[in-house]
Amino acid sequence: MPVQKPDTIEAQLHAAERACRHNGVQLTELRKLVLSIILQAEAPLTAYQLLDRLKETRKGAAPPTIYRALDFLIEQRFIHKVERLNAFIACSEAEGHHDHPVQFLICRQCGTVAEIEDHAISRALAHAAERNGFRPGNAVVELDGTCAECAPPATG
Ligand SMILES: [Zn+2]
Ligand SMILES: [Zn+2]
Repeated sequence: MPVQKPDTIEAQLHAAERACRHNGVQLTELRKLVLSIILQAEAPLTAYQLLDRLKETRKGAAPPTIYRALDFLIEQRFIHKVERLNAFIACSEAEGHHDHPVQFLICRQCGTVAEIEDHAISRALAHAAERNGFRPGNAVVELDGTCAECAPPATG
C-alpha cells in the first residue's frame, strides 16, 4: 500500500524526526535546517547554494558543516544526490525507499528533477550486468531530457 505523502514541509520534517527516532539517530537543529532548505527549493541545490542559504541564518556555516549534514541526510534517505548535476534533492518518499534503486528524470530546460522508482528498470539493469559477469553496486539511473511541462505541444 502506498504511503501517504505529507503535503507540507512541516509534515515532512516531522516524518524525518520520527524516522530518526526510529533509527536511533539524531536530527539535530542543523541537519533539520539543511533538510528544510532542500525541501523548500524548487530545483536541486548544489552544496554551495545550500551553504549560501544556510548562511542567512547561520553566519558561521562552513563547507564541512554542510557536507556532514548532507552525508547524514543521504544516509537516512531523506535526500538524494543527483550526480549529473552535483546537486541535492529531497526524496519524494517521506518514509524512504529501503533498498530499491531509483531513477531521476532531469529536465534540461527548467532544471527540475523527478524521482521515479521503476522496479522493471532496476531488474533489467541487474540482469544485463549479470549476463556480463558484472556485479552491480549503485544502480541509480539519471536520464536527461525534457519534462512534460517544457515539452512543446504535439502538432498535427
Ligand atoms: Zn527517494
Ligand atoms: Zn522542464
